[in-house]
Amino acid sequence: MSMREDVQNTVNRVDQGRLWRRLMEMARIGAIPGGGVNRAAFSREDIAARALLVAWARARNFSVAMDAIGNLFIRRAGSDPRAAPVMTGSHMDSQPRGGRFDGIYGVLAGLEALQAIDEAGVKTRRPIELVAWTNEEGGRFQPCTMGSAVYTGARRLEDFLDVKDNEGVGLRDALAQTLAATPDVARRPIKAPAAAYIEAHIEQGPLLESAGKTIGVVTGIQGLRWFNIEVFGKTDHAGTTPLALRQDALRDAVNIIHALHELTRDAADTVRFTVGRMLVTPNSPNSVASHVLFSADVRHPDPVTIDRLGKAVEPAARKSARQCTIKVTPTLHDDPCVFHPTVVDSIERVANELKLGSMRLSSGASHDAMYMARICPTGMIFVPCEKGVSHNEAENAKSADLAAGARVLTAALLELANKEE
Ligand SMILES: [Zn+2]
Repeated sequence: MSMREDVQNTVNRVDQGRLWRRLMEMARIGAIPGGGVNRAAFSREDIAARALLVAWARARNFSVAMDAIGNLFIRRAGSDPRAAPVMTGSHMDSQPRGGRFDGIYGVLAGLEALQAIDEAGVKTRRPIELVAWTNEEGGRFQPCTMGSAVYTGARRLEDFLDVKDNEGVGLRDALAQTLAATPDVARRPIKAPAAAYIEAHIEQGPLLESAGKTIGVVTGIQGLRWFNIEVFGKTDHAGTTPLALRQDALRDAVNIIHALHELTRDAADTVRFTVGRMLVTPNSPNSVASHVLFSADVRHPDPVTIDRLGKAVEPAARKSARQCTIKVTPTLHDDPCVFHPTVVDSIERVANELKLGSMRLSSGASHDAMYMARICPTGMIFVPCEKGVSHNEAENAKSADLAAGARVLTAALLELANKEE
C-alpha cells in the first residue's frame, strides 16, 4: 500500500537536521557533565526551555496558551472551528541526571510535524495541538505525570499545591513563579476536549534496537503503584546508645525494603520494584536516624497482579518494622492502560507505508499518554535509543530514527485530523 501523495509530500518536509539541531539546542538548557541534562519541573531551566519552545512556535505563527498547572499548548488551526483538536506532545522536564531525548523528543517531533504540515500548506479539518506537559518526571515534586493528570481530571490541581521538594520549596510557589515567568502567554481553562492523542518518545528500553526495528507501535502501558513510606524513630548518640534501646528509623527502613523485595520477587522478572528516593533525618554518621522517608515504585502489566501487589505493600511494611512506627501514603495508583485500536492501527499502517520496520510492544515506563487514554483515543510511537539506556546522562538516539518517528507522527496526525466522526 502506498501513501496518498499529499500526505507523502507533507511527510517529506520533516527536516531531520532541523529536528536534531533543536534537540541539541534544548540539551544546552540544564546541560550536565556526561552529556545529559538536569531540567527539573518549575526550575530556571524549565522556564528557559518553555521560552525557547514558545519562540519557535511564534516564529511559525502558531497560537500559544498555558493552563493553571503550566501545561503549554501550541496550536495550528483547523478548518472546522467547532472541532476538538488532535493532540500530540510530551514533556520538557528531566530526571536529575537525565538524557537529551526523554520527553523533549516528543515535544520537538510534534513541533516538527506542525511545521511540516504548515509548510506544505495542508488544511486539516481539526486543529492540531502540541502540548508540553508540566512535571512528567516527578523527580523534584511527586508524583509524576502531574500536568496530564490534572488536564484529564484524574487529579485536582489543589491536590498538588502543598507538595514540597527536597529543599522544602512548595509546588504552589514554584508553579506561581513559572506562570509569572511567561506573562505574555494567553491563559486557558484546565480542561478541554481532545479528539485523539499521539505521543512520540524514545523507547527507554532495548527491544527495538535488538530487533533492528525503527518504529515501536505501542499497545499500552503497564500499571503502577507509588508509595511514600515513612519510618518514625528517635535520634540518639551512635556511640553510647545500646542497640536494644534504639528506635533506629534507618534500620527499620532497610528491613522494610528487604521485605518488599521479597514480596515482589518474580522468577519471570516481569514485576518491577524500585526504591529510588530516601531522605534520612538528621542524616549524620554518628546519630541514629529519627526519621526516614523513602519511595516505593511497583509495576506490572497485568491488572490483577498489580492490584494484589499494591494491596500487599502496606501490610508487608508494617510486619517488618521492628522498633519504629510507620506511615504508608499511596501517591500514585494507575492501572494498566490499553491504547485505542484506531490510533494503534493508524501508526502501524503509516509506518508500513513509509517502509519503516515496526513492531508492536507495550511500554514499561509511564507517560502522559496513560492519562490521555482516559479521555480520548490514544497511542504512542517509540523510536530506538542506544542500548535502551534512559534516565541517565548517556541516553542516546540516532538522528535518522528520531526523524523517522517524526514522519510517522506527522502522517498519523494528518490522518486523524481529517477523519470524519
Ligand atoms: Zn519521558
